[in-house]
Amino acid sequence: MTQFMKLFLAGLITVVVTMTAVVGTAAAAGPENQITILYDAFGKDGSMQKDWGFSALVEVAGKRILFDTGNDRDIFAANVKAKKVDLTKLDFVVLSHRHSDHMAGLAYVLSVNPKVKIYAPKEGFGIYGSSLPSSFYRKDEALPPDMRYFDGRPPAVMTFGSAWQGANFELIDKTTEIAPGITLIALVSDVPGTRELKELSLAINTSDGLVLVVGCSHPGIDKIVEAAATINPKIHLIAGGFHLVAASDDAISKIVATLKDTFKVENIAPGHCTGEPTFAALKQAFGDHYIYAGIGTSLVTGSAGGAGQRRGEAPALDADDLVSYRRLAAREDPFGLATWRRKLANTEGDATRR
Ligand SMILES: [Zn+2]
Ligand SMILES: [Zn+2]
Repeated sequence: MTQFMKLFLAGLITVVVTMTAVVGTAAAAGPENQITILYDAFGKDGSMQKDWGFSALVEVAGKRILFDTGNDRDIFAANVKAKKVDLTKLDFVVLSHRHSDHMAGLAYVLSVNPKVKIYAPKEGFGIYGSSLPSSFYRKDEALPPDMRYFDGRPPAVMTFGSAWQGANFELIDKTTEIAPGITLIALVSDVPGTRELKELSLAINTSDGLVLVVGCSHPGIDKIVEAAATINPKIHLIAGGFHLVAASDDAISKIVATLKDTFKVENIAPGHCTGEPTFAALKQAFGDHYIYAGIGTSLVTGSAGGAGQRRGEAPALDADDLVSYRRLAAREDPFGLATWRRKLANTEGDATRR
């Protein structure tokens, strides 16, 4: 192929991709590009019930994705009805991880939409079901058949059931683009208490940049964003739980600095296990770009950009950037947040004494 032909084809593809994006947006006119919080323990919508846990309806690019399902089947069902969400019209469900405050509403989802595709992390002998070649266990040919598993003739592949028998699970082991521009980031927690816990985060490329929805961020919100930045370094919005609910001021400051200064996250819509002091710190750091995302809130996002689209000029972090980000992350109180909070506490103390 000549250089001219290559350029011509590249141009043609760009035009077609752009047209598809525009048509896609126009055809699905309406409030389709939004994220609606269906389950959380804070919020202003009086018609919904607050409870610990997380769920969000992600409507982007004509896709309707249910991300997590909350902590209690009945509360989840009531909140879904309060927002008039039709769960029979879902493209798929994502279960971020195996904690019950993200999964308990799945029973309700399956009661109205039993065949819906559900993406979940692949875990050995996990709650979503799994399988292994029967060669995984040691054999002893000398034993009589009635002392041997399967009388000494196991199936080639042994399957282990899921807690939702018959549900249409697709288990995700590594970061996968499951639809054009829609990627499930698969990471593993290395934190004591949740070590080896696998978690999926949802990354969607939009015309505004990457929109990232996280469940609990057990692998670390910084690790998730680092992975997301390799898809598109322009991170437009992060919504969900950052798991800093019991973190120290120092740890919070480091994460806030990482999100704001290193990854230049544009907008932040924290919820669930992010934590009250982290809400305060993020609000202070992001100002107008802190988007309130309590239960019932709908966050408007950009329209989908499709697969492979890279927006923004910022290059992905190279090795040098990563070194400086880690150095920054290691710095004490980079935003002066700890000092600010200490001052605040002292002022309050003075006021009480008076
Ligand atoms: Zn959680
Ligand atoms: Zn969790």
